[in-house]
Amino acid sequence: MAFWRRLRPAGNTGASHSLAAGRSQSLKRKLSAATTVAALCTVGLAALLMARSYGDFAAARQNLHDISEYRVLLDAANVLSAERGPANSVLGEAPAEKSAARDRLREFRARSDAALTRLLMPPPAPAGLHQHRLPPLMVERVRDRLRRARAEVDALAARQREDRQMDELQHAIEGMFEAVDALQPLVGWQVRQLSACHPGLAAPALAGKMFGDLREYGGRAASQIMAPIAAHQPIPIRSLADTSRSRGRLLELWELAGPAYNMYGEAPRLEQAHADASHEFFGHGLSMVDSMVAQGRLSGHYSMTPTEFTNRYVPTLEPLERLRSAFLDEVIAHFEADRTRALRLLAIAGGATALILLVLGYLLVFAQRSVFLPLLHARDAVIALAEGRGRPGLATPATGREMRRLFDALDILRRKLRERASLTEQLEHQARTDSLTGLLNRRALEHIAAQPADPAGPATVSLILMDVDRFKQINDRHGHPAGDEVLRALADLMRDFLNPAFALARFGGEEFAVLVPGAGTDEAASMAQALRTAICAEPIRLADGTRLPVTASFGVATGRSGVIHWPRLFAAADAALYRAKTDGRNCVRRADEPAEAVDD
Ligand code: GH3
Ligand code: MG
Ligand code: MG
Repeated sequence: MAFWRRLRPAGNTGASHSLAAGRSQSLKRKLSAATTVAALCTVGLAALLMARSYGDFAAARQNLHDISEYRVLLDAANVLSAERGPANSVLGEAPAEKSAARDRLREFRARSDAALTRLLMPPPAPAGLHQHRLPPLMVERVRDRLRRARAEVDALAARQREDRQMDELQHAIEGMFEAVDALQPLVGWQVRQLSACHPGLAAPALAGKMFGDLREYGGRAASQIMAPIAAHQPIPIRSLADTSRSRGRLLELWELAGPAYNMYGEAPRLEQAHADASHEFFGHGLSMVDSMVAQGRLSGHYSMTPTEFTNRYVPTLEPLERLRSAFLDEVIAHFEADRTRALRLLAIAGGATALILLVLGYLLVFAQRSVFLPLLHARDAVIALAEGRGRPGLATPATGREMRRLFDALDILRRKLRERASLTEQLEHQARTDSLTGLLNRRALEHIAAQPADPAGPATVSLILMDVDRFKQINDRHGHPAGDEVLRALADLMRDFLNPAFALARFGGEEFAVLVPGAGTDEAASMAQALRTAICAEPIRLADGTRLPVTASFGVATGRSGVIHWPRLFAAADAALYRAKTDGRNCVRRADEPAEAVDD
């Protein structure tokens, strides 16, 4: 058995195992490379998406900031324009230290000053935003113009009413117009800045200016006739022309306001303001101006003093102011919504990117842990099974159903292979075993003898051939089964008697053979002699109690192992056995002794 095992082909297990390990490494490298490429592509795409979203958000933020700053400028123009109301009232009043109109004027002037200071020194823009600083010289020019206009108003207001010449009054009022007009280049400058920054800002900026102008010309139409009213004189032609121009401009702006006021969709507040302006200002306010103009054309007698006229006329301007203010609120709300939308998109893009990267990471880890590694595991297991290295049980990686099925299939394959291996082993055992005695058969013995000598083991081998003497007679006298019994008994005896490392075979019929590795002829002959003595020492006891004396003849030869040497070794041992027979049986003959020598 030991010989047999030793002589099995060693196979190339180690080589294919290292090849498998190499392939597994290369697969892992490919997986890592694919993972890196996929992650880089995703990060690249995500970066593009994020950059785009962030760009949109930054632009929306800047737009909101710019339009808000523009609104501050329009509000300043509006505040300046509103200062004319109390100024006109004061010009129509008798000089006094204190009066309601003067208090209001002080209050309005403070508002104008604060608005201009804010234009000159705007608060710093929030981080990351660009501040379009108004040219300070232009703002200073407005301040200067305003200062001069106020000085003129104050100088006139300090005089007795009858000392105020209409031309002087007219000049003072026009001075206030000029202060507001001095602001227009700033508005134009700002509109150009906004349009250059973002084309979407141009339309609301111009519409905002238009609503501001509506309020401005609403005021001017009355202010232009205030001097003759204050002076109780007929309206001069120039003032008539001016107020008529303002009226025309107002109607023109009102025409334009119609389609512009709801440029961002329906807005109830704007609609209400538009309806109110239509009714109150274009209904009552403008009629009031028309009536004063009519009175001024005919005579210098007016139905209202400047203060009364102002107090009644100014409230009709309120819907125009509300319209302007609501429109600008609407614009800002629109840009705020834009910014919120851009921020939401940025958050969604960021979230989606993070999610994609997470899912990708999870998929890669999942693919690695649950697909690739189990597959590599399974592949190693298949290779191991194919090479007969099937381990008793592979731990199934805790993965999905498909993988568990694969590993179940591998278990079945392993079981089947084990069954087949055991069947093959049985067949191989049968193929090399003599069924009667359980010893090796002739084919197995010859196979062993044909193997080349183990370089680490002995170089020689001895062959002992044994033939039972007159066995035919045993068969004839006691029957074939008894003969079989004798053969089995002899096999047992030999098995007990000889070293289990020797190859012991029933060579055919009643012939046996023993291969004794490393033994010389002397040693093998002694062994044969001892075996012969043991056989004839006691009769063989059959199952029925019959005792049969049995002898056997032996032929011994020594040679080298290997397929080439075997025929010669066998022929020599066979010839020696033949001599043992011819020399009278129950004796041992060596192949290397002279034919006539007899040792027993
Ligand atoms: P010799 O001393 O010359 O060897 O005489 P022998 O009778 O032993 O030799 P021979 O070759 O004439 O006879 C061998 C006999 O062995 C013939 C055959 O019937 C018998 N035999 C062969 N195989 C078996 C077997 O498996 N069982 C039994 N019972 N007999 C067998
Ligand atoms: Mg024989
Ligand atoms: Mg015989």
